[in-house]
Amino acid sequence: MGKVFLIGAGPGDPELMTLKAARALGSADVVLIDDLVSRGCLAHARSGAKVVEVGKRGGCKSTAQAFIEKLMIQYARAGNVVARLKGGDPFVFGRGGEEMAALLAEGIEVEVIPGVTAGLAAPATLGIPVTHRELARGVTFVTGHAKEGAEADWKALARSGTTLVIYMGLARLGHIVAALLEAGLPAETPACVIQDATLKSQRELVSTLGALSAQGFESPAIIVVGAVVARGRAQAKARGDRKAA
Ligand code: SAH
Repeated sequence: MGKVFLIGAGPGDPELMTLKAARALGSADVVLIDDLVSRGCLAHARSGAKVVEVGKRGGCKSTAQAFIEKLMIQYARAGNVVARLKGGDPFVFGRGGEEMAALLAEGIEVEVIPGVTAGLAAPATLGIPVTHRELARGVTFVTGHAKEGAEADWKALARSGTTLVIYMGLARLGHIVAALLEAGLPAETPACVIQDATLKSQRELVSTLGALSAQGFESPAIIVVGAVVARGRAQAKARGDRKAA
């Protein structure tokens, strides 16, 4: 019997993968890689490792998810060390919990290696201190995706005094903004959209809740709402720093 590493590969920039993730990846016979994971991460894989692309961009189809779980089970049963590379952190909106449960149910050993989640990395690229102590009581990671009608409690979130970090929110940005305004957040609340965080292709809009727009942006993107956004470096400066890096 082999084993499976559920690995957080970080938000994009391969340098944001942990040393532990790189080491586990280097021990794997088979690598299952999601499409949000930078191909640069594969530099740490053994040269003879089998690499399987298991992306299911946009769809989140349960059939695809079941297929990925079946693949991991098959490879591990055949005695392979399997590295399941997932974007960001495997347990933050990554379905890592489901995958772990499926593997454990089959008696397969699982080791989880946390990763830098996009919700922290994206604001960090703009110098946004998500829990700056005078401005936020905490930070909330929330999905903007309404799965089967289940919607985040935007009223409660607006009152929470925490910085809101919204994953998968781009497609419903108009709805989310309207809900937060209706819940009482002022239109002037600082807010931003960050696409392709930590990658060369990164783009961002630093604005206010009332003026936030998804126009011109594509997934993957993180939306940050809260006073802390105004404590970030100016957009132009952040760009300059990245170019210089
Ligand atoms: N497990 C991942 C999240 C998977 S859900 C993590 O911890 O980061 C997919 C969502 O993550 C995307 O819709 C987007 O909201 C966000 N995301 C992932 N990578 C991103 C990136 N490089 N830049 C901006 N958002 C990103």
